[in-house]
Amino acid sequence: MRAITLTQHGGPEVLTVSEVEDPLPGPGEVLVRTRRTGVNFIETYQREGVYDVELPFTPGTEGSGEVIALGEGVDSLQVGQRITTSQGRATYAEKFVVDADRVVVVPESVSDDAAGALSLQGFTAHYLTRSTFPVGPETTAVITAAAGGVGGVAIQLMKRQGATVIGLTSSQEKADTARSLGADHVLPYEGFADAVEEITGGRGADVVYDSVGKTTFDESLAAVHLRGMVVLFGGSSGQVPPFDLQRLNAMGSLYVTRPSLNAYMHTEEERQWRAREMFEAIEDGLKIRVGGTYSLDDAAQAHRDLESRRTQGKLLLTF
Ligand code: NDP
Repeated sequence: MRAITLTQHGGPEVLTVSEVEDPLPGPGEVLVRTRRTGVNFIETYQREGVYDVELPFTPGTEGSGEVIALGEGVDSLQVGQRITTSQGRATYAEKFVVDADRVVVVPESVSDDAAGALSLQGFTAHYLTRSTFPVGPETTAVITAAAGGVGGVAIQLMKRQGATVIGLTSSQEKADTARSLGADHVLPYEGFADAVEEITGGRGADVVYDSVGKTTFDESLAAVHLRGMVVLFGGSSGQVPPFDLQRLNAMGSLYVTRPSLNAYMHTEEERQWRAREMFEAIEDGLKIRVGGTYSLDDAAQAHRDLESRRTQGKLLLTF
């Protein structure tokens, strides 16, 4: 089969296609014929060598497609079923292997693009707004990168729960997108804590979902009210440096958490609940936006576009 194989670290140009052996599903695993591969920031860090990976290396954990072979002992899935996962192995390839208990079966009503774009960003938006800090009609929530993949889904989910949503974006175009997805207010990053205070009549937000990290974290703390929560779920601008917990005391008994998707997709029951709610929302009109589709040969361009900060929505490799 054809796969992206990194033999050296570097810029997008090191993402080249080569012929490799088909992977074999081990006990408890299934083999999937790829239809969509999600392109994510983590693969740019692996490509550059910022995250340690052993070469040669085929990137990718997010993928969707059709089950074409079952490993020993798998009885929860059947050949021919369409699945999606954020926990596959080496998904920048025409076929990939994944643990049978790390997938979600996709209903017919959901398109290949939506299935491919859902696993990482969609389920993240779900756990953030339904589990980490569950929003409701009384909630005022701030979300960074509001026109981004996670941000765009999170806005829609929060509006469905009746929350007031304040989105942060870096351009007018992205602000228009965030508004079109339902954000009640859209602000630039500069001075957003003061603007949130003004919008909330001096109270502050209940929660800030912050994926930008280094450049926003301090203002996120300042934007929440007494006993409010900052959910730091990414570091698109860089990682937040070590942090003195006494600051939370001084700022009004604040809560900070640093969650990850795998911890919120931990049990079969939880995975199926999130999947059911997301599929129902999609059938009910929730938009999963695809910001670009690329062939495997154009994976380098997908990385260039992702790193440009100009894309909106999910970037997918299509097969
Ligand atoms: P996005 O579509 O949100 O893209 C990243 C966005 O971050 C950009 O569009 C940009 O939006 C904003 N941004 C702010 N500063 C920078 C910068 N210096 N360089 C680049 N972008 C910047 O990506 P995703 O929706 O895929 O992911 C969002 C974040 O969530 C990422 O940090 C990702 O690692 C994290 N994540 C965390 C998970 C978890 O479980 N903890 C799971 C999945 C993703 P703007 O221009 O409007 O600021």
